Amino acid sequence: TTHAAAEDRYERLAYRRAGRSGLDLPAFSLGLWQKFGTDHPYETQRSIILHAFDLGITHIDNADRYGPPHRAAQQVFGRVLAKDLAPYRDELVLSTKAGNPIGPSPYLKGGSRKSLLNSLEHSLRDLGTDYVDVFYHHRADPTTPLEETAGALADAVRQGKALYVGVSNYSPEQAHEIGELLRAQGVQLLVHQPRYSIFDRTPERSGLLDTAAADGFGLVVYSPLAQGLLTDKYLQDIPSGARAENSAFLKPDVIDEVYRTRAAALNDLAKQRGQSLAQLALQWVLRRPEVTSALIGASSTWQLDHNVQALDFPALTDEELAVVDEHGVH
Ligand code: NDP
Repeated sequence: TTHAAAEDRYERLAYRRAGRSGLDLPAFSLGLWQKFGTDHPYETQRSIILHAFDLGITHIDNADRYGPPHRAAQQVFGRVLAKDLAPYRDELVLSTKAGNPIGPSPYLKGGSRKSLLNSLEHSLRDLGTDYVDVFYHHRADPTTPLEETAGALADAVRQGKALYVGVSNYSPEQAHEIGELLRAQGVQLLVHQPRYSIFDRTPERSGLLDTAAADGFGLVVYSPLAQGLLTDKYLQDIPSGARAENSAFLKPDVIDEVYRTRAAALNDLAKQRGQSLAQLALQWVLRRPEVTSALIGASSTWQLDHNVQALDFPALTDEELAVVDEHGVH
């Protein structure tokens, strides 16, 4: 039997419009980057995905790379879609990405038409769906003409294999340029996916927030919790099972005295506001109207329940924002 989704699933989260498009995304989206592969129990992964949907998290972010191993996260999601969420396909916004290397072959990386369209076909098979809602180029490839990449993305839309397209990790200039190339082909750039958090404010400095507002694309920001560093879990030690214990992408040596001092100051601010550091960090990225959705990971349903409450608190005051300025990383 399929999943019976919570009746009240649209009453919990805010939905925010992606740039100047017609598409709303949930304030929180779920990403399957880490811990959605073959090295964790399928039932845990399934319960997190179903719980997210019950909370109103309609947007699931994936990529050919995610797992481990590569492609496993989409296969896990495909299994859940087929068994549990099949009746709800129309209520889901599924994203995938291509172009970040997934193997030594020259066709398993970059921004070529070959790499992007082959990867999309493969992802559709893994996900068990005829189309994705958003197809992203995962990172800019300076060795491929942007015209070729834009053409491949536009063709994915024309072929009905993607409803919208996006880019990730592009500079503001690259995003503007591909947006123009897509527009010339009658396709809009829906979203850009950059890293953004209290510990990485590059999108403010680089001008990406301004370009998003001017050009009308939304921002779906990843690692808003800096992979867990912007929670209270690492204030003392590395707890067993936490990402920093066993991940190629979050090494234990980042948890040093400088980190602890910053995190403790931010944690004090959160406590004064009656919330957790995770909730403060999520509320902080969503304070910007250019940010459509905060893209979070989760290794438990508890984390999801806790994190989606971030918008239940009063807006950050100027004084509180100044404390964040002081202890964050610019
Ligand atoms: P976050 O910064 O939200 O980190 C999520 C991790 O933090 C969780 O998996 C969990 O890790 C920990 N965590 C979450 N909530 C809590 C809590 N309340 N208390 C304690 N720990 C908590 O995001 P991610 O770095 O996971 O990135 C999110 C998504 O963004 C990815 O899944 C992917 O879809 C996308 N992404 C895109 C990239 C790109 O290049 N386009 C690059 C990176 C990510 P644990 O419990 O295991 O310690």
